Amino acid sequence: MTTRTLLVAGGGIGGMAAALACARQGWDVRLYERAAAFSEVGAGIQIGPNVVRLLQGWGLGEALRAVAAFPARLRVRDVASGRTLGELGLAGMAGRYGAPYATIHRADLLQLLHAAVQACPNVALQLGQAAEGFAAGADAVQLQLRDAAGRALPAAEGDALLGADGLWSRLRQQLLHDGPPRLTGHLAYRALAAQAELPPELRSDEVTAWLGPRQHLVCYPVRGGALLNVVGFVHGRLPGMHTPSPDALADWDHGANAAELRAAFAGACAPLAALLQAVGAWRLWVMCDRPPMTRAAQQARGRVALLGDAAHPMRPYLAQGAGMAIEDAEALAHALRQVGPAGPDVPAALAHYAGERWQRNASVQARALRNGRIYHAAGPLRLGRDLAMAVLGEGLLDMPWLYGWRPPRPAAVRSRE
Ligand SMILES: Cc1cc2nc3c(=O)[nH]c(=O)nc-3n(C[C@H](O)[C@H](O)[C@H](O)COP(=O)(O)OP(=O)(O)OC[C@H]3O[C@@H](n4cnc5c(N)ncnc54)[C@H](O)[C@@H]3O)c2cc1C
Repeated sequence: MTTRTLLVAGGGIGGMAAALACARQGWDVRLYERAAAFSEVGAGIQIGPNVVRLLQGWGLGEALRAVAAFPARLRVRDVASGRTLGELGLAGMAGRYGAPYATIHRADLLQLLHAAVQACPNVALQLGQAAEGFAAGADAVQLQLRDAAGRALPAAEGDALLGADGLWSRLRQQLLHDGPPRLTGHLAYRALAAQAELPPELRSDEVTAWLGPRQHLVCYPVRGGALLNVVGFVHGRLPGMHTPSPDALADWDHGANAAELRAAFAGACAPLAALLQAVGAWRLWVMCDRPPMTRAAQQARGRVALLGDAAHPMRPYLAQGAGMAIEDAEALAHALRQVGPAGPDVPAALAHYAGERWQRNASVQARALRNGRIYHAAGPLRLGRDLAMAVLGEGLLDMPWLYGWRPPRPAAVRSRE
């Protein structure tokens, strides 16, 4: 059997997941990360059963249990009154969907993927090498690279190229020429607090979402419950910023003035105000996204495919951006596994991958957009939301279409006629 080579640009959660999934299917993988180390800026993410199930399938269940938290409940509360608007039991998800709902420090998730990749003899990881562009031919694709000092490096050659280079993807620009992502007009303030250092009444082993007009705040435990992750979303822009650019946003990450966030949540009820007072160092992210995908060709063309935020950056109001990157990785591995003399060629396999993924990703992007409007609603829409949650309860918060996703079945990829 001929071994094929997948080149991956970007070693975030998406690129690392793709390297692991594709290496497990027998492909040689060469991954190029621009940064000097594999790292994730400190904050948590939620991963639904659709994602946990995939990680378990890749043999990461035990490693995940060691570092994640598994909250028993999601509670939705009103920012101003503190009233509980709705609840969803998360403990039952393992029974319903075959895997639990987890919350995890993103550095821990990247680390467990990285450790699994390092154990694969058919993956080579390169740090400090930035993808510059590509040249796709009939039989191979070349990835042009630069080192940290900006010097050109010899191009890498492979059978397929994956752009997993995030929101500001260079490979996307060469593939689609569709300009930068858009500013959403929302800002995110993120912080991590040691639970042991919080007053007992502020510690939590649940996911809590506090909803208010033009704002919401989510908190949940990570690192086995030792840390509480808190992220507050408000409408606003950075002064003078009209067009986003990676340089201007410096990868979204800015030290933040806690007073700005506390002022934005000035009307918060006592327990939420106490939490905002107790949590110290906040960092500010300027939120960008792209509109939902409209066709498969936005996710793959010829020998080049996109994955994760490079393909479908979304608002985090469904907590599934990294989840979709991990689902993409599984679908890509499934498609590439079938490449061979008796199966599809690489462009056909990548077209199949794109066909499997784009509508799912578009649905999640669209739902995340809609959730933002509902979470931040004021006036009659807010009253309707609260009433619907009271009447429909768990039925509104549980999402079988999202959490029940299963990877494509084998033998689904067709050869090109
Ligand atoms: C406030 C907030 C909360 C969120 N909460 C959740 C959540 O609860 N659940 C969830 O699933 N998702 C969540 N997300 C979304 C999630 O963080 C992203 O969707 C996910 O991290 C995307 O992973 P990625 O690997 O595609 O991109 P990235 O994480 O951006 O990784 C891209 C990698 O490529 C590298 N790179 C960039 N350019 C180049 C280049 N030219 N050459 C080589 N390497 C390059 C970068 O250094 C980086 O390592 C949240 C996002 C935000 C902003």
